[in-house]
Amino acid sequence: MNNPIARRDLLKSLGLGTAAYLLSPLMASAQRPGDGAAAPAASAAPATGPFTLPALGYADNALEPHIDARTMDIHRTKHQQAFVTNLNNLAKDNPDLGKKTPEELIRNLGALDEKIRGAVRNNAGGWVNHTVFWQQMKPGGAKEPGGKLADAIKGKFGDFAKLKEAFTDAGLKRFGSGWAWLVVAGKSLEIVSTANQDNPLMGKAISGAEGVPILGCDVWEHAYYLTYQNRRGDYLKAWWNVVNWSDVGARFDKAMA
Ligand code: MN
Repeated sequence: MNNPIARRDLLKSLGLGTAAYLLSPLMASAQRPGDGAAAPAASAAPATGPFTLPALGYADNALEPHIDARTMDIHRTKHQQAFVTNLNNLAKDNPDLGKKTPEELIRNLGALDEKIRGAVRNNAGGWVNHTVFWQQMKPGGAKEPGGKLADAIKGKFGDFAKLKEAFTDAGLKRFGSGWAWLVVAGKSLEIVSTANQDNPLMGKAISGAEGVPILGCDVWEHAYYLTYQNRRGDYLKAWWNVVNWSDVGARFDKAMA
Protein backbone atom coordinates (compact mmCIF):
# COMPACT_ATOMS: atom_id res chain seq x y z
CA MET A 1 0.00 0.00 0.00
CA ASN A 2 2.90 2.35 -0.58
CA ASN A 3 1.34 3.49 -3.79
CA PRO A 4 -0.66 6.62 -2.83
CA ILE A 5 -3.12 6.10 -5.66
CA ALA A 6 -3.92 2.57 -4.52
CA ARG A 7 -4.20 3.78 -0.95
CA ARG A 8 -6.60 6.51 -2.02
CA ASP A 9 -8.71 3.95 -3.89
CA LEU A 10 -8.81 1.80 -0.78
CA LEU A 11 -9.99 4.73 1.29
CA LYS A 12 -12.63 5.46 -1.31
CA SER A 13 -13.78 1.85 -1.33
CA LEU A 14 -14.14 2.14 2.42
CA GLY A 15 -16.34 5.15 1.89
CA LEU A 16 -13.73 7.70 2.87
CA GLY A 17 -13.13 10.56 0.50
CA THR A 18 -10.22 12.79 -0.26
CA ALA A 19 -10.95 14.99 2.73
CA ALA A 20 -10.50 12.04 5.10
CA TYR A 21 -7.24 11.23 3.38
CA LEU A 22 -5.97 14.76 3.81
CA LEU A 23 -7.12 15.15 7.38
CA SER A 24 -6.13 11.78 8.78
CA PRO A 25 -3.02 12.26 10.97
CA LEU A 26 -2.33 8.54 10.78
CA MET A 27 -2.21 8.60 7.03
CA ALA A 28 -0.14 11.77 7.02
CA SER A 29 2.47 10.30 9.35
CA ALA A 30 2.57 7.17 7.25
CA GLN A 31 3.40 9.18 4.16
CA ARG A 32 6.77 8.51 2.67
CA PRO A 33 8.89 11.26 1.15
CA GLY A 34 7.66 11.85 -2.35
CA ASP A 35 4.10 10.77 -1.60
CA GLY A 36 3.11 14.38 -1.24
CA ALA A 37 3.46 15.00 -4.94
CA ALA A 38 0.69 12.54 -5.69
CA ALA A 39 -1.57 13.63 -2.85
CA PRO A 40 -4.19 16.29 -3.55
CA ALA A 41 -2.77 19.75 -2.86
CA ALA A 42 -3.76 21.05 0.56
CA SER A 43 -4.37 24.47 -1.00
CA ALA A 44 -7.24 22.91 -2.94
CA ALA A 45 -9.17 22.42 0.30
CA PRO A 46 -12.69 23.69 -0.37
CA ALA A 47 -14.10 26.77 1.26
CA THR A 48 -16.34 25.75 4.12
CA GLY A 49 -19.96 26.76 4.31
CA PRO A 50 -23.50 25.43 4.38
CA PHE A 51 -23.17 23.43 1.16
CA THR A 52 -21.24 20.17 1.01
CA LEU A 53 -20.13 17.60 -1.52
CA PRO A 54 -22.33 14.49 -1.29
CA ALA A 55 -20.75 11.08 -0.84
CA LEU A 56 -20.87 8.82 -3.86
CA GLY A 57 -22.04 5.89 -1.75
CA TYR A 58 -20.04 3.39 -3.81
CA ALA A 59 -16.53 3.01 -5.17
CA ASP A 60 -15.40 5.14 -8.11
CA ASN A 61 -14.74 1.98 -10.13
CA ALA A 62 -18.10 0.37 -9.35
CA LEU A 63 -19.62 1.39 -12.69
CA GLU A 64 -16.76 0.11 -14.85
CA PRO A 65 -16.47 -0.73 -17.67
CA HIS A 66 -19.38 1.55 -18.57
CA ILE A 67 -18.12 4.61 -16.68
CA ASP A 68 -14.46 4.63 -15.65
CA ALA A 69 -13.21 5.34 -12.12
CA ARG A 70 -11.18 8.40 -13.07
CA THR A 71 -14.18 10.03 -14.71
CA MET A 72 -16.27 9.36 -11.60
CA ASP A 73 -13.56 10.80 -9.34
CA ILE A 74 -12.95 13.97 -11.38
CA HIS A 75 -16.65 14.43 -12.07
CA ARG A 76 -17.56 14.55 -8.39
CA THR A 77 -14.46 15.82 -6.59
CA LYS A 78 -13.62 18.52 -9.18
CA HIS A 79 -16.69 19.39 -11.22
CA GLN A 80 -19.34 19.00 -8.52
CA GLN A 81 -16.95 20.37 -5.90
CA ALA A 82 -16.73 23.57 -7.95
CA PHE A 83 -20.51 23.99 -7.55
CA VAL A 84 -20.17 23.47 -3.79
CA THR A 85 -17.36 26.01 -3.52
CA ASN A 86 -19.21 28.56 -5.64
CA LEU A 87 -22.41 28.13 -3.60
CA ASN A 88 -20.50 28.58 -0.35
CA ASN A 89 -18.83 31.70 -1.70
CA LEU A 90 -22.25 33.07 -2.72
CA ALA A 91 -23.62 32.25 0.74
CA LYS A 92 -20.89 34.35 2.39
CA ASP A 93 -22.45 37.52 0.99
CA ASN A 94 -26.00 36.14 0.89
CA PRO A 95 -26.44 34.13 4.10
CA ASP A 96 -30.13 33.40 3.37
CA LEU A 97 -29.00 31.04 0.60
CA GLY A 98 -27.54 28.66 3.14
CA LYS A 99 -30.89 28.31 4.89
CA LYS A 100 -32.29 26.53 1.85
CA THR A 101 -31.36 23.28 0.14
CA PRO A 102 -30.06 23.47 -3.43
CA GLU A 103 -33.34 21.89 -4.58
CA GLU A 104 -35.38 24.55 -2.78
CA LEU A 105 -33.19 27.19 -4.43
CA ILE A 106 -33.71 25.92 -7.98
CA ARG A 107 -37.46 25.54 -7.43
CA ASN A 108 -37.67 29.22 -6.51
CA LEU A 109 -35.09 31.04 -8.61
CA GLY A 110 -37.55 33.88 -9.23
CA ALA A 111 -37.44 34.78 -5.54
CA LEU A 112 -33.72 35.58 -5.70
CA ASP A 113 -32.03 38.88 -6.35
CA GLU A 114 -31.24 39.18 -10.05
CA LYS A 115 -27.60 39.78 -9.20
CA ILE A 116 -27.15 36.24 -7.92
CA ARG A 117 -29.92 34.42 -9.77
CA GLY A 118 -27.75 33.28 -12.66
CA ALA A 119 -24.98 32.00 -10.40
CA VAL A 120 -27.44 30.11 -8.19
CA ARG A 121 -29.14 28.69 -11.27
CA ASN A 122 -25.86 27.24 -12.55
CA ASN A 123 -24.34 26.11 -9.27
CA ALA A 124 -27.39 24.89 -7.32
CA GLY A 125 -28.60 23.32 -10.57
CA GLY A 126 -25.25 21.57 -10.98
CA TRP A 127 -25.33 20.39 -7.36
CA VAL A 128 -28.83 18.92 -7.65
CA ASN A 129 -28.29 17.37 -11.08
CA HIS A 130 -25.12 15.56 -10.06
CA THR A 131 -26.35 14.46 -6.63
CA VAL A 132 -29.33 12.76 -8.24
CA PHE A 133 -27.13 11.39 -11.05
CA TRP A 134 -24.91 9.52 -8.53
CA GLN A 135 -27.96 8.06 -6.79
CA GLN A 136 -29.50 6.88 -10.05
CA MET A 137 -26.38 4.96 -11.06
CA LYS A 138 -25.89 3.28 -7.69
CA PRO A 139 -24.84 -0.36 -8.27
CA GLY A 140 -27.48 -2.94 -7.49
CA GLY A 141 -31.19 -2.42 -7.72
CA ALA A 142 -33.45 -3.39 -10.58
CA LYS A 143 -31.91 -3.61 -14.06
CA GLU A 144 -35.10 -2.53 -15.76
CA PRO A 145 -38.26 -0.68 -14.79
CA GLY A 146 -40.80 -2.52 -12.66
CA GLY A 147 -44.05 -1.85 -10.83
CA LYS A 148 -46.20 1.12 -11.75
CA LEU A 149 -43.32 2.75 -13.63
CA ALA A 150 -43.14 -0.23 -16.02
CA ASP A 151 -46.88 0.10 -16.65
CA ALA A 152 -46.57 3.84 -17.27
CA ILE A 153 -43.68 3.32 -19.70
CA LYS A 154 -45.70 0.73 -21.59
CA GLY A 155 -48.68 3.08 -21.75
CA LYS A 156 -46.66 6.09 -22.92
CA PHE A 157 -43.89 4.66 -25.10
CA GLY A 158 -45.06 1.14 -25.99
CA ASP A 159 -42.15 -0.63 -24.37
CA PHE A 160 -38.86 -0.09 -22.51
CA ALA A 161 -36.79 -0.22 -25.73
CA LYS A 162 -38.79 2.68 -27.18
CA LEU A 163 -38.29 4.73 -24.03
CA LYS A 164 -34.53 4.17 -24.28
CA GLU A 165 -34.60 5.14 -27.93
CA ALA A 166 -36.46 8.39 -27.30
CA PHE A 167 -34.36 9.32 -24.27
CA THR A 168 -31.10 8.59 -26.13
CA ASP A 169 -32.33 10.74 -28.99
CA ALA A 170 -32.95 13.64 -26.58
CA GLY A 171 -29.40 13.25 -25.23
CA LEU A 172 -27.86 13.12 -28.69
CA LYS A 173 -29.79 16.14 -29.92
CA ARG A 174 -28.85 18.34 -26.95
CA PHE A 175 -26.35 20.64 -28.68
CA GLY A 176 -23.33 21.42 -26.52
CA SER A 177 -23.67 20.66 -22.83
CA GLY A 178 -26.74 19.67 -20.88
CA TRP A 179 -28.96 16.87 -19.65
CA ALA A 180 -31.60 14.47 -20.93
CA TRP A 181 -34.51 13.79 -18.57
CA LEU A 182 -37.44 11.52 -17.99
CA VAL A 183 -39.95 13.59 -16.06
CA VAL A 184 -43.43 13.27 -14.62
CA ALA A 185 -45.42 16.25 -15.90
CA GLY A 186 -49.14 16.42 -15.19
CA LYS A 187 -49.08 12.74 -14.09
CA SER A 188 -47.64 11.77 -17.47
CA LEU A 189 -44.16 10.60 -18.43
CA GLU A 190 -42.31 12.94 -20.79
CA ILE A 191 -38.80 13.08 -22.20
CA VAL A 192 -37.15 16.50 -22.26
CA SER A 193 -33.67 17.98 -22.28
CA THR A 194 -32.12 21.08 -20.75
CA ALA A 195 -28.98 23.10 -21.48
CA ASN A 196 -26.03 23.60 -19.13
CA GLN A 197 -27.01 22.75 -15.51
CA ASP A 198 -30.66 23.62 -15.89
CA ASN A 199 -33.22 21.27 -14.34
CA PRO A 200 -36.93 20.90 -15.20
CA LEU A 201 -37.71 21.87 -11.58
CA MET A 202 -36.68 25.42 -12.54
CA GLY A 203 -39.81 25.58 -14.71
CA LYS A 204 -40.42 26.12 -18.39
CA ALA A 205 -39.71 29.86 -18.46
CA ILE A 206 -36.16 29.29 -17.24
CA SER A 207 -35.14 25.79 -18.28
CA GLY A 208 -37.43 25.28 -21.27
CA ALA A 209 -38.75 22.14 -19.56
CA GLU A 210 -41.04 21.32 -16.68
CA GLY A 211 -42.03 18.41 -14.50
CA VAL A 212 -40.47 16.31 -11.78
CA PRO A 213 -37.33 14.57 -13.03
CA ILE A 214 -37.19 10.86 -12.22
CA LEU A 215 -34.17 10.05 -14.41
CA GLY A 216 -31.43 12.32 -15.74
CA CYS A 217 -28.34 11.74 -17.85
CA ASP A 218 -25.41 14.14 -17.96
CA VAL A 219 -24.36 14.68 -21.58
CA TRP A 220 -21.58 17.19 -20.87
CA GLU A 221 -18.36 15.94 -22.47
CA HIS A 222 -16.71 15.71 -19.03
CA ALA A 223 -19.17 12.89 -18.21
CA TYR A 224 -17.76 10.60 -20.89
CA TYR A 225 -14.71 12.05 -22.64
CA LEU A 226 -11.95 9.93 -21.03
CA THR A 227 -13.50 6.66 -22.20
CA TYR A 228 -15.66 7.68 -25.14
CA GLN A 229 -14.04 10.92 -26.42
CA ASN A 230 -16.48 12.41 -28.93
CA ARG A 231 -18.71 9.32 -29.05
CA ARG A 232 -21.68 10.53 -27.02
CA GLY A 233 -23.87 7.84 -28.57
CA ASP A 234 -21.60 5.06 -27.28
CA TYR A 235 -21.67 6.60 -23.79
CA LEU A 236 -25.46 6.84 -23.84
CA LYS A 237 -25.73 3.23 -25.01
CA ALA A 238 -23.44 2.03 -22.20
CA TRP A 239 -25.08 4.26 -19.59
CA TRP A 240 -28.29 2.21 -19.59
CA ASN A 241 -26.26 -0.61 -18.01
CA VAL A 242 -25.70 1.43 -14.84
CA VAL A 243 -29.16 2.91 -14.29
CA ASN A 244 -30.65 1.80 -10.96
CA TRP A 245 -34.33 1.31 -11.77
CA SER A 246 -35.24 0.82 -8.12
CA ASP A 247 -34.20 4.44 -7.52
CA VAL A 248 -36.04 5.67 -10.61
CA GLY A 249 -39.16 3.69 -9.67
CA ALA A 250 -39.19 5.20 -6.17
CA ARG A 251 -38.97 8.70 -7.67
CA PHE A 252 -41.84 7.86 -10.02
CA ASP A 253 -44.05 6.62 -7.19
CA LYS A 254 -43.30 9.76 -5.17
CA ALA A 255 -44.00 12.06 -8.12
CA MET A 256 -47.32 10.33 -8.78
CA ALA A 257 -48.45 10.24 -5.15
MN1 MN B 1 -21.39 16.72 -15.02
